[in-house]
Amino acid sequence: MMTPIKMDKRTQKVKLCVIFFFFIRFVQSYKTNVIIKTQKSLFGIVSIFPEFCRLVNFLERIICYKIMAEKIKCLIIGSGPAGYTAAIYASRAGLQPIMYQGGQPGGQLTTTTEVDNFPGYPHGVDGPAMMQDLENQAKRFGTDVRFGLATKVDFSSQPKKVWIDDTTELEADAVIIATGASAKWLGLEGETTFNGLGVSACAVCDGFFYRNQTVAVVGAGDTAAEEASYLANLCEKVHMIVRRDEMRASLIMQERVKKNPKIEIHWNSETEEILGDANGVTGIRLKNNQTGKTEEIALTGFFVAIGHQPNTSIFKGQLDMDTQEYLITEKGSSRTNIEGVFACGDVQDSIYRQAVTAAGSGCMAALDAERWLAAKGLH
Ligand code: NDP
Repeated sequence: MMTPIKMDKRTQKVKLCVIFFFFIRFVQSYKTNVIIKTQKSLFGIVSIFPEFCRLVNFLERIICYKIMAEKIKCLIIGSGPAGYTAAIYASRAGLQPIMYQGGQPGGQLTTTTEVDNFPGYPHGVDGPAMMQDLENQAKRFGTDVRFGLATKVDFSSQPKKVWIDDTTELEADAVIIATGASAKWLGLEGETTFNGLGVSACAVCDGFFYRNQTVAVVGAGDTAAEEASYLANLCEKVHMIVRRDEMRASLIMQERVKKNPKIEIHWNSETEEILGDANGVTGIRLKNNQTGKTEEIALTGFFVAIGHQPNTSIFKGQLDMDTQEYLITEKGSSRTNIEGVFACGDVQDSIYRQAVTAAGSGCMAALDAERWLAAKGLH
């Protein structure tokens, strides 16, 4: 005699769901292929079928969601130095993290040619190569690194819900946000043509390559003032391009640039074109927006410092942000206003924005997530 196989409750439920799923599919195809085509008026079935099918579709969506939503202990969104460092720590702590890399795997550093200021690389390293090293290191400890962009989140319940590319639904106990910030650009063609060949959005990263040369900084905020002062210590001359007749930077920063003999400020000026050849930038054409007068300036480095945009749009209305839309974390931690959601890297840092500070905060986020999961009995 055959012994009946005993199924646990979960397996039974899944099996029922699968059967129901196929039943629904059968009913739908029956409706499309048989009833609509051949017996439109039979017993008035057609008149009630649209409602029935809508109900079926609704039930199907619920069932698919329940079957397909992947359950994750620790989800990392974003793959810059912060995300990868969080991944290294989280995987070593046994959190089995899954990382979705976002629209630009590797983040901002993949657009930089050489990184000279990240500890551990005595001879410098290519930005993309460094990010590949970090990815390999995270994978070595078991991080599941996946392509995909988080397009929607719902942090109102536990576990948190995250949608990838508008289709894949995930449920995560803890979420680490490392989506970074993107430099704003002027929109000139030369910014793309000469990116890494004279055009940069980070003086601290790339200024060293323009030692004793002539460069320009566009912008008039604290970042531009700081970058102009930084570059003046390295370069022969710095042209600061300001679009109005005053600066937005704090007074002390303004005084610093105005007093520096190596910095020449071009008021009411806008860059019309970045000039260059196969070797990179050779100059710019400026236009005075009051007089209409244009002039060409010979230089080799063009630094755009008109602000950054943190990648936080999908968190609006759920996570606390400052006036510039950077995520707010508790002082000395990576905790956001929602329990179990942590933020690290440039997405929560408008001041330092360095790969090494991002990496440090990624470590903090993983430690915070581990402690939180343990305290909640989820790890
Ligand atoms: P800001 O938004 O403060 O300044 C951006 C600057 O870029 C403005 O002067 C703006 O001009 C100019 N700009 C914007 N678009 C264009 C354009 N298309 N063409 C030319 N110029 C343009 O950004 P920052 O990155 O400077 O600063 C962001 C925040 O970080 C600020 O709160 C700042 O105080 C802070 N910060 C603090 C530092 C510190 O304390 N050490 C260091 C760096 C930043 P306009 O004024 O005409 O709008």
